[in-house]
Amino acid sequence: MTRYISFIFASFLLSFSALANSIHLQGKFEQGSLIKGNVPPQSQVLLNGKPVQVAKSGDFVFGFEREAKPEHELKVIYPNGLTEIKPLKVTAKKYKIDRVNGISKKIMKPDPKALARAKKDGKQVRAARNTESQQTAIFTDFIWPVTGRISGVYGSQRVYNGKPGRPHYGVDVARNTGTPIVSPADGVITLAVPDMFYSGGTVIIDHGFGVSSSMLHLSKLYVKQGQKVKQGEPIAEIGATGRVTGPHLDWRLNWFQMRLDPTSIVPDMKSVMKKK
Ligand SMILES: [Zn+2]
Repeated sequence: MTRYISFIFASFLLSFSALANSIHLQGKFEQGSLIKGNVPPQSQVLLNGKPVQVAKSGDFVFGFEREAKPEHELKVIYPNGLTEIKPLKVTAKKYKIDRVNGISKKIMKPDPKALARAKKDGKQVRAARNTESQQTAIFTDFIWPVTGRISGVYGSQRVYNGKPGRPHYGVDVARNTGTPIVSPADGVITLAVPDMFYSGGTVIIDHGFGVSSSMLHLSKLYVKQGQKVKQGEPIAEIGATGRVTGPHLDWRLNWFQMRLDPTSIVPDMKSVMKKK
């Protein structure tokens, strides 16, 4: 009997130690970051008590928003019913104040028709970002949609013509109008509108598991809604459409409605430009 108990105890210890290394996480643990994870297939994952979708392979993703608190908890329920809780610590980021001047009156004080348009745009964008597909492109490595000087960063507090606005959620790459941009990973186009009120020519690409890329201020779109795209495939041209003062690409990364920092999933721009 004692032997039997010690056998059970030993196998319990074995399975426990095997499990202790079963949660793999990859990413920067700071505000605005996208984190990729892997657990044994068929495990359940909960972030702060809310279920996170897990792929058949055991891969999953989640994000820490701009104002994410320092303490988070990842709970994994393994297929054998055992549970592991992993506390996560998130570093706070300092956001700078960004003053943007020279925005036109038409954009600063939109007339009722324009406001109605902006509202309709917002609805369309939210619907596209709610896409919940099983595409696994999100678990691959991303590339920059275009290279160039970074003229705006994620999270900065925007002041438009002296009036405080919402924070800037994308990364801006300044290049001339007409410069082609490519899809940063495989995906499906969930939105392609040439003239949204604030974001101008706009494309949203679904990469799976709630993660999407938004490309703003485009001058020309090469893609249509529903179209599949491959990583590196040209999808549009840079422009200066919507609320802008000059031509640039504004690339945004979303986990459902949560806005994340696209630079958290691509190599540093300087290192990419050096290689060219
Ligand atoms: Zn921008």
